[in-house]
Amino acid sequence: MSPSSGLTRRPGIWDVIVVGAGPAGTTAARVAAENGCRTLLLERATIPRYKTCGGGLIGASLAALPPGLSLNVHDTAGRFTFGLNGRRERTLASACPTIAMVHRSEFDAALTEAAAGAGAEVRDGTVLAALDQDGDTVTVRTGRGDTLRARALVGADGSAGKVARYVGVQCAQVDLALEAEVPVDDRTADRWRGRLLMEWGPLPGSFGWVFPKGNVCTAGVVAARGNPVALRAYKEDFLGRHGLLGPRPLHDTGHLTRCRRPGSPLSRGRVLVAGDAAALLDHWSREGISYALRSGDLAGNAAVGLARTSDAAQAHLAADGYRQQIEDVLGVEMRASSTLMDLFVRNPALVHTALTRLPLAWRRLDAYIAGRTSVAGIMTAPVVRAAVALTSTFPSRGGRPPGTGR
Ligand SMILES: Cc1cc2nc3c(=O)[nH]c(=O)nc-3n(C[C@H](O)[C@H](O)[C@H](O)COP(=O)(O)OP(=O)(O)OC[C@H]3O[C@@H](n4cnc5c(N)ncnc54)[C@H](O)[C@@H]3O)c2cc1C
Repeated sequence: MSPSSGLTRRPGIWDVIVVGAGPAGTTAARVAAENGCRTLLLERATIPRYKTCGGGLIGASLAALPPGLSLNVHDTAGRFTFGLNGRRERTLASACPTIAMVHRSEFDAALTEAAAGAGAEVRDGTVLAALDQDGDTVTVRTGRGDTLRARALVGADGSAGKVARYVGVQCAQVDLALEAEVPVDDRTADRWRGRLLMEWGPLPGSFGWVFPKGNVCTAGVVAARGNPVALRAYKEDFLGRHGLLGPRPLHDTGHLTRCRRPGSPLSRGRVLVAGDAAALLDHWSREGISYALRSGDLAGNAAVGLARTSDAAQAHLAADGYRQQIEDVLGVEMRASSTLMDLFVRNPALVHTALTRLPLAWRRLDAYIAGRTSVAGIMTAPVVRAAVALTSTFPSRGGRPPGTGR
């Protein structure tokens, strides 16, 4: 750290500790290190690590990547098949192929390398076990029994992380996703190449997907937490119908996804949360990588501000600036996606018909996927506003189970 950076080095104290080497944490660590902070990135797993995820990068994710990142893209989807629980399938072409398909192990490892390249020290195989703060110092105890200190901490430890609990993140929607990575033969790979499938499912707010990645397809289903038996049955049916049940999967896992309540805390003192740890996720599509990258960037910058000051009032301003930036951009996106999700839960057939039969609706979604508009941009389309107004008068078609926030 140069004296001009405004950071006063204290022996044995890191400027910034980041917990979790997913897209949020690696981005926060890179940004903090680029700004001259002595930065430590802790990751529980050994890198590269597997993460249950479709690995689909939409335009907003691609735009948020550091320049020059070496990205191993296994396919790029330009055709989208939409279905309604196995019926009324329709394939639409994108204006230009836009979703890049990656393996998260490779993607997150490349982002970790970028953070290390910027000067962050990476310690994988190191779990955050406990967290506390006093005055201008955050103290971390690791699973190895080490005690580490920092001026700021970014919790990017995912949807079931410890830091979210410490900060008191509150959720409006909690879902369970079940996913399999299925090896496919050449004929099946050809059938899926360049084409992605999204199918609205039988449970309220549920859908299934198939994402092509050359000789592997990532396929899964998601629905409100609380009905795992029905969700497993849907997954079997879904994979079976798409010919993906036979081969032994490379991975077969489940993971919770969480969407924050508006106004849910994003910090506590000198501790910030980003990405899934802050429950920043699209309510409808459960897209979260762009949220993780964008909030990681903002959290990294806010952590630099925290590291530069010992003053409690200044630290409060830095944390509040982060809260405001998240609310202004990602909060607006999440409110729009929550409205879209309400519409979808009430009447998936209407959403399906609009998407597959009204060119304007598909063009808006396609523009969102490509990063040319946001979910808020989709929701301002007159056709969507009319559908929202119309369906808000309908009784809900089977609400989401208790405990899911909806
Ligand atoms: C089935 C499924 C499919 C999805 N598909 C997509 C998709 O196609 N596109 C998309 O954009 N989003 C998708 N998402 C969402 C996306 O995976 C997440 O939003 C994204 O991974 C969030 O990134 P993150 O960095 O916040 O957290 P994560 O990627 O979860 O990273 C958190 C990291 O923290 C580490 N960690 C946890 N606890 C500790 C600890 N105590 N100490 C140290 N390290 C710790 C973990 O090992 C992990 O590496 C999907 C989610 C699911 C569940």
